[in-house]
Amino acid sequence: MIRAVEAVTPFKEVIAEVKAAGGDVFKLCYQCGKCDVVCPWNRVRSFSIRKIIREAAFGLTEIESEDIWRCTTCGTCLRECPRGVEQIELGVSLRRIASQYGVFPASARPAHTAAGSLRSHGNPLSEERNARADWARGLPVKPFAEGMDVLYFVGCYFSYDPRLRKAAVATANILNKAGVEFGILGTQENCCGESIRKTGAEDVFKTLARENIKTFVDRGVRKILVSSPHCYHTFVNEYPEFMVHLEVVHVSQYLLELINEGRLELTGAYEKKVTYHDPCYLGRHNGIYDEPRELLRKVPGLELIEMPDCRDNSLCCGGGGGRIWMETPKSERFSNLRVEQAHAVHAEVLVTSCPYCISNFEESRLILEYDRVMEVKEITEIVQEAL
Ligand code: SF4
Repeated sequence: MIRAVEAVTPFKEVIAEVKAAGGDVFKLCYQCGKCDVVCPWNRVRSFSIRKIIREAAFGLTEIESEDIWRCTTCGTCLRECPRGVEQIELGVSLRRIASQYGVFPASARPAHTAAGSLRSHGNPLSEERNARADWARGLPVKPFAEGMDVLYFVGCYFSYDPRLRKAAVATANILNKAGVEFGILGTQENCCGESIRKTGAEDVFKTLARENIKTFVDRGVRKILVSSPHCYHTFVNEYPEFMVHLEVVHVSQYLLELINEGRLELTGAYEKKVTYHDPCYLGRHNGIYDEPRELLRKVPGLELIEMPDCRDNSLCCGGGGGRIWMETPKSERFSNLRVEQAHAVHAEVLVTSCPYCISNFEESRLILEYDRVMEVKEITEIVQEAL
């Protein structure tokens, strides 16, 4: 067993790393266990954040443990803690220590591979940089030029993943229909870096962020439209660490704006029972709950129903914090529980607006054999059907 205190000579260095991520705040923890009560892991297996915090506070973390890689950074525990402990920051600092010493349990190794791909290709999927804009082939999608209304920052999964490319195409079609002057960065777009940062690969995050910021400045970008809540989160809350403040809008907000301004009209019908899943990084981390629902209510014929665990209680899909790259046994997938919840309210369509949620729900729908009775949609795919 390697404990953080034993792993290296400079014990003080390890403790300093934990402290640098808010270590003194961790010592406020009085072990009430409220974080464990709300943690989604405890719906699928036994897991204790409280224990991780206690061990970290005394430098007793087993850095080879699977447990330090479990947190999906969903943020539910932050809201419950009466002592202001920053559990996510603690978890990331422990992963940073493990990464520095190259200690990865088998389940976390794909995150290490993703970091390598980000360094070499600018995406976590080992895809070619040159293919980043292939999703837009044959569509009227231009390279971004200064003076356009908005830069569409597509994101890695929407650029490369065959399932999610459909949502990028839907977004482009809707923007064109509304007459929005938009462009993309193509091969100059890099991953935003949000999720790799949560795995402890701080150097990779910083490199990606600096390259993106340089591109935004050089290309005269004023306003950025994003599909992924993870891009939204890091541009709004983390890129300011580099002294840059960007105007960022999530696609659910932007499309609602276009409708309210009369630039986009939905004339088609979408007569289905739809339930909306709040992605953690759109809802809990950034307070965007109403706009996606308002947008869906604008779709003629659509019946919007709520699941349990909605809005700030939303049940994490399991994909944040770099978990999208890690292997999770089928019996431990939060996304299975969420798809069950959608099915229980008789939803015909489970809609959301996050690439990780979509990927996880699509898999769960197959695992649970609901593929004949329930669809999983990205929000722009529904809007597109109602054009
Ligand atoms: Fe500690 Fe806060 Fe968790 Fe209570 S809720 S055990 S104080 S981190």
